[in-house]
Amino acid sequence: MTVSVAIDLALDRLFTYSVPGELAKKLLVGQLLRVPFGGRIARGFALAVEENAPAAVPAVPEERDLFGNVIAPKKKPAKAAGFSLKPILAIEDESPFFSPELLKLVRWIAAYTASPIETTLKAALPAAVLKPSIKPKELLYVEPVVPTPADARLTPHQKALLADFARVGGGWLQQLVREFKTSPSTVHALAEKGVVTVAPRVSRRDPLAGRRVMPTKPLTLNPRQRQALEVIDAATKPVLLHGVTGSGKTEIYLQAIARVLERGQGAIVLVPEISLTPQTVRRFAGRFGEQVAVLHSALSDGERYDEWHRIRTGEARVVVGPRSAIFAPVRRLGLIVVDEEHDPSYKQDETPRYHARDLAVVRARFEGAGVVLGSATPSLESWRNAQTGKYALASVPNRVAGRTLPAVHLVNMEQEAEKTGHPPIFSSPLLDALHLRLERGEQTILFLNRRGFSRVLECPDCGWTAQCPDCSVPYTYHRADDCLRCHVCGGWTRLPAQCPDCQNREFNYTGIGTQRAEAALKRCFPSARVLRMDADSTARKFSHDDILSAFRAGKADVLLGTQMIAKGLDFPNVTLVGVLNADTSLHRPDPRASERTYQLLAQVSGRAGRAEKPGEVYLQTFAPDAPAIAAAASDQGFGAFAAQELAARHQAYLPPYCRLATLVFRSKIDELAASWADLYARSLASWAKQFNAGKAGEPFRVSEAVEAPLAKAEGWFRYQIVVRAPSTRDIVAAVKWIEEARPAPKDLRIVFDVDAQNLA
Ligand SMILES: [Zn+2]
Ligand SMILES: [Zn+2]
Repeated sequence: MTVSVAIDLALDRLFTYSVPGELAKKLLVGQLLRVPFGGRIARGFALAVEENAPAAVPAVPEERDLFGNVIAPKKKPAKAAGFSLKPILAIEDESPFFSPELLKLVRWIAAYTASPIETTLKAALPAAVLKPSIKPKELLYVEPVVPTPADARLTPHQKALLADFARVGGGWLQQLVREFKTSPSTVHALAEKGVVTVAPRVSRRDPLAGRRVMPTKPLTLNPRQRQALEVIDAATKPVLLHGVTGSGKTEIYLQAIARVLERGQGAIVLVPEISLTPQTVRRFAGRFGEQVAVLHSALSDGERYDEWHRIRTGEARVVVGPRSAIFAPVRRLGLIVVDEEHDPSYKQDETPRYHARDLAVVRARFEGAGVVLGSATPSLESWRNAQTGKYALASVPNRVAGRTLPAVHLVNMEQEAEKTGHPPIFSSPLLDALHLRLERGEQTILFLNRRGFSRVLECPDCGWTAQCPDCSVPYTYHRADDCLRCHVCGGWTRLPAQCPDCQNREFNYTGIGTQRAEAALKRCFPSARVLRMDADSTARKFSHDDILSAFRAGKADVLLGTQMIAKGLDFPNVTLVGVLNADTSLHRPDPRASERTYQLLAQVSGRAGRAEKPGEVYLQTFAPDAPAIAAAASDQGFGAFAAQELAARHQAYLPPYCRLATLVFRSKIDELAASWADLYARSLASWAKQFNAGKAGEPFRVSEAVEAPLAKAEGWFRYQIVVRAPSTRDIVAAVKWIEEARPAPKDLRIVFDVDAQNLA
């Protein structure tokens, strides 16, 4: 018997070992093994088991490239028949870390994203699970012996204590000592008399410990919600749940999961990392209690270890987590929910560059589970799949309890600027609306679209701007520590005394930052209580939750923030939402800029008027006619925007009408990155020529090699190629062919991103 093992090296290669007789009976795929490797002992996963040792190794066929040149086989041919394999040393854990279905998913990702199998395996497993230093936590547990031995001679005090312990049925030593105001030595004395046992027991490190979780009962669904639930329950294909903000999607998820649990199956709920707040977790824990496991980046190693093992053993059957939770080892998976399925954070931005929404669909197919993709503003990929019938569509077009969607007003900032000579931070219609809210004691959310927009130090005389020397972006001024910071590499510098070009000593600060907006707001409304939420104010561990709780409790009139406040928040007293710069994300070099802008505005607008009082939204913009802006303010809804945007994408041959991948060439040597990008672009173009020859179908298109929009980052020069083709498989085949023929030199890194979500 032999076994192929993936060892923790990104070689994209498996190593074959023999299996000694005594281990052969216990060996299963997915187990963690110990194997000899190059003079040391390594750990690796069993990926495939072969009953018979391989016989002679077939010769490597000669391969030729497009130009007829022989491609030398890169891998050394295996040794001839008769070679002896090294045996594996041990099985580290008899219970497999990966089920056969999860292994199938891992292999699928490795092939689809052209990533090494070892790196993909690592991405699918929390690092804490493999750390030798992380072990289950054990504490002493006290249990009364039943019945109490008749010959036990107890003092009256001991008798009373034993009665207390019997009443609560035992417990953790520390807790009992605290609760019954006794000492460990008193309890150990009871153990010596044989009336209780004190023994170590595994204690769960609970991420929800100390948080108040109120049990909830299912709410009554309205007819559209009930209809959606039935579509999900009966579906034989993925379901797109399109529900406007405030339409009660979470309650539909909860009831769909309840049905799955009744059938003895489990579920995974993916949420964007940013909205994985205690508020979200409490909703699931409130309904399903101990059966819920939470996986997210703020967990300690110990908590993560315990939660993962609770899932693996089947103790926890509902998993809530961000994109990596798609790999949770849930047994008998019945349903995967992807909430806010359009959210860009589902795309992993390092190898393997998977998209968790797409993986949800693939995993559900492999395991015969259902899948629900939910959003108020679906991705155009999912929307089109619903239009063509590949997905089932369930719509909830109204808010719950007859509540109305907010009225959305556009404020033309061009006109506002004419009134005062320069564009104000707050337009007069927004100030009037704010004033009204302060008078009525209602709350306001002000949103600053920070993407591509920050405070830049500029010389008014010669136009010089302060820029990071390692990255091709301007520095951002930070008032809190009065310095200039680079948001790409994190570097900082002091403010210059004078302009290095013209020695002028006066500077301008362009752009609005949250701090400046806060200052301007306080000038207009000195008595207003303002909470600011941005990367600076949430640096402390719990401050994100603290700020939101304070706002919910009515401790402030205005919440001012960036992207962080856009999603999923539900504040009943908010009746006004103002977006200070609605159009800044429109101008990104990104085929999805329009879609993202619309999604963001719709999500932010959705924060207004979620309870009885109706809401109002003001969008300040310089581009009131841009389709995404106009659509966000119209009552035509998402469908009208999607139809218009899809037509434009079709015309331009952009996703979802093609697959779009990027290749980014990074090097500290400018010419090296540029020349390799150019070489690849030309090779890919010749591949495309062959691919397209004589075909009527959709073409394979390759851009020229150009400087990436972020042309330099952390001292690395960046060049980019964009490839579009009918399928990812075609793109991967082309890129692999070139990589084989032209492996990258030492000083160059090539990052290949299939289904790239942005061009940066
Ligand atoms: Zn100057
Ligand atoms: Zn920098």
